[in-house]
Amino acid sequence: MSDLQKNRRGLMIVLSSPSGAGKSTLTRKLLAENENMTMSVSATTRAPRSGEEDGQDYYFVSKNDFSDMIEDGEFLEHAKVFDNYYGTPRGPVEQALMNGKDVIFDIDWQGAQQLTQNASMDLVKIFILPPSKRELESRLHSRAQDSKAVIARRMAKSESEMSHWAEYDYVIVNEDLDKAMEELRTILASERMKLSRQLWVSPFVKQLIQGG
Ligand code: 5GP
Repeated sequence: MSDLQKNRRGLMIVLSSPSGAGKSTLTRKLLAENENMTMSVSATTRAPRSGEEDGQDYYFVSKNDFSDMIEDGEFLEHAKVFDNYYGTPRGPVEQALMNGKDVIFDIDWQGAQQLTQNASMDLVKIFILPPSKRELESRLHSRAQDSKAVIARRMAKSESEMSHWAEYDYVIVNEDLDKAMEELRTILASERMKLSRQLWVSPFVKQLIQGG
């Protein structure tokens, strides 16, 4: 690819799904194979799960700090999910996009709606579905990170989450990880080629016409 063709706008890739549909695995794989992609790290008031690191999985903050961040306009979007608050810090996302990087967001449908209102031009919204309810429940159990009560609540919530599928640009059913990854790659490849994101075309065509 010529230097000219590298000149494109970064994508804001929203991945939403009910918990347990395999979104974190897909995100990890996508990041591993795309140098020019970064993950938006959200702030949350929920307690860290075992193995989660502050600043890497989330910024774990108090409810007071979260309210201050809202007041100071530090979030691109924020929402209450289950009993906790989650929000996307604005600064790192704007910085990454300015540097021509793609940014992945693991946020729920409420966040996707807010980003649609604020930043729709750069957005690609993808909803990940599990192949069946039984499979979703079994994945939540095998993750062994949450108590039985939390799992039951997440299952109950999954129905209302999944009802928002039509607000997304794409739906992927994650039955087979390799196939889901292939579908993700296909979506991203064609989204990146959209003319609105290819800033190099206009000067290139001008140069072609002028015979340079
Ligand atoms: P978990 O507690 O399992 O990490 O996340 C619960 C839900 O909150 C997931 O559906 C996740 O996508 C969503 N979530 C995580 N961060 C954010 C955020 O910054 N904004 C919004 N709106 N949702 C988030």
